[in-house]
Amino acid sequence: MSARRHRARRSVQILVLLLGTLVPWLGVFRLDMPGARVVYLGRSYPLEWPYVLGMIIPFLVVVWVLALLSYLKGRVFCGWACPYGSLVEFFEGIRTAAGWGSNRLVAAWMRRSPLHRLGLRAGAVVTLVAAPLLLGASLAAYLYPPARILRELSAPLDLGNRGQVVLWAWMALVLASSWLAGFLVRFHFCRMVCIYGMGQAMAASAADPAKVLRPRFRPGDLGACGSCQACLKACFVEVDPRAKDLHLGFSAGCFNCGDCVDVCETVQGHKGRPSLLTFERPEAPRKPARREDPGESW
Ligand code: SF4
Ligand code: SF4
Repeated sequence: MSARRHRARRSVQILVLLLGTLVPWLGVFRLDMPGARVVYLGRSYPLEWPYVLGMIIPFLVVVWVLALLSYLKGRVFCGWACPYGSLVEFFEGIRTAAGWGSNRLVAAWMRRSPLHRLGLRAGAVVTLVAAPLLLGASLAAYLYPPARILRELSAPLDLGNRGQVVLWAWMALVLASSWLAGFLVRFHFCRMVCIYGMGQAMAASAADPAKVLRPRFRPGDLGACGSCQACLKACFVEVDPRAKDLHLGFSAGCFNCGDCVDVCETVQGHKGRPSLLTFERPEAPRKPARREDPGESW
């Protein structure tokens, strides 16, 4: 089965999630709000000029790099690296273990045996609680010293300790929001609310439609697919990758994840044919060759 884009995408998603989680714990970057300080690479500085430049400059660089990426590659950040999108896809695996999601890998494991099903469901229940709590603690570690977070979370709950109560309230909020996002809101947030998704869609819409990266359906009509709908089922944002006017926009946009192209390569590969879906750009029509003026030649 062709899954090279899918595997590469999962690697990028895991890497981004790992980095986002580890950065504050390793002291690469975090704020220390109670102490009004900022930490860069393990060293602490006052949260004032010029030390704040260490936050402002990387932020501006990231904004410009992502704007350029969206202009050239559409909403590729959403499909490949956005932590929110990755977590929603991660929850899709849990939904599949519960019996109503569409993650192909988890579904294949669920079909193996009752023991596999039981193991996956037990793992899903543990993950459902552990992953949001880890996320909550990591987000808190961007604002509070990690040692303090560990101390407060491991101590018995003391309602007189305001810091500990706030921290546990935050963890409960992240837990509830994660479940809400993973089970209910899902990609509707990316389509309707996310400001960065809107910015990416605007940058992509300014690009030349013939050049911007997006899946393209080679044949002229859908009859070439027969009864196959594999790419539609593979699309986690539920768009039809074969549509001629496939959006890269805000409300119903493609995220350029590449899963549909992978799937079609597999389907057509079984028949010994090339994929009907591709990321290749159509060839630009050739300009007619200029006829040489005989007077110009020697
Ligand atoms: S249309 Fe294809 S590339 Fe776009 S989001 Fe859906 S599966 Fe991914
Ligand atoms: S996977 Fe390929 S063959 Fe199947 S419906 Fe999509 S484009 Fe057509």
